[in-house]
Amino acid sequence: AQLAGHSDGGRVIAIANQKGGVGKTTTAINLATALAACDKKVLIIDIDAQGNASTGLGIDRKARTVSTYDVIIDRKPIEEATISSVVPRLDVVPSSIDLAGAEIELIDLDRREFRLKDAIRRMSRHYDYVLIDCPPSLQLLTLNALCAADSILVPLQCEFYALEGLSLLMRTIERVRKAFNPALTIQGVVLTMYDKRNNLSDMVASDVREHFGDKVYETVIPRNVRVSEAPSYGIPVLVYDMHCRGSKAYINLASEVLRREQTPMAEVGTA
Ligand code: ADP
Ligand code: MG
Repeated sequence: AQLAGHSDGGRVIAIANQKGGVGKTTTAINLATALAACDKKVLIIDIDAQGNASTGLGIDRKARTVSTYDVIIDRKPIEEATISSVVPRLDVVPSSIDLAGAEIELIDLDRREFRLKDAIRRMSRHYDYVLIDCPPSLQLLTLNALCAADSILVPLQCEFYALEGLSLLMRTIERVRKAFNPALTIQGVVLTMYDKRNNLSDMVASDVREHFGDKVYETVIPRNVRVSEAPSYGIPVLVYDMHCRGSKAYINLASEVLRREQTPMAEVGTA
């Protein structure tokens, strides 16, 4: 497959939505795990001060001596912060709580929107996919992710307010394209925490499909208790219980991502 973007051929995907609790981190961890299971080399960069992606992959706080804070603020080489996870072929750049202050510290730094892009560009290791797990905001850290990325993958929770706030996200993408990263595309929209007993889930799903067309993955991630249990063991649900519905859905999502990589679709929302 021909991969767009970075010179080493890897694809950088920002997993972003300014809403919290919509499944960004869960999608980052489990899509990454499923891609690694498909023999891809994958890196997750955790840029949320909460550090849920790091914790969910069993990276002990004590092991996070160098974190995304040091990479973004102090320009430490990303390799120094990179840790292997329990999943073969999946590495993690963990975050630390210092990142909570980075938003303000960034304001006065040069190339403040491009610090993460610069770090990824200087990275000597090759990855097929770099997934950036974003914080629930559209401030400078998320902006760094959108400037570093080839594309954005948007998880949307199947709930009443799912579409609220999306126009702000789309305007932000447009602004990033105009000012910083003209090549930024929408990788896809994935519906999460779908509950088949809830009619609202279906209404939301069809609304989102009407709005985003074939940018919405066919795969829908069901609400599944195994998915929510796995992080407390510090392992992806695919390792915790590979046969549960949540795991199967993330395997399907990964194969859809890989399949779509080979047959790019028309852009939605491109000027
Ligand atoms: P975000 O990173 O967008 O804040 P998370 O991925 O952390 O969202 O998910 C929010 C909460 O919902 C977490 O407790 C997570 O375990 C849970 N969760 C996410 N996806 C599912 C799912 N498919 N089924 C059940 N619980 C889920
Ligand atoms: Mg998160």
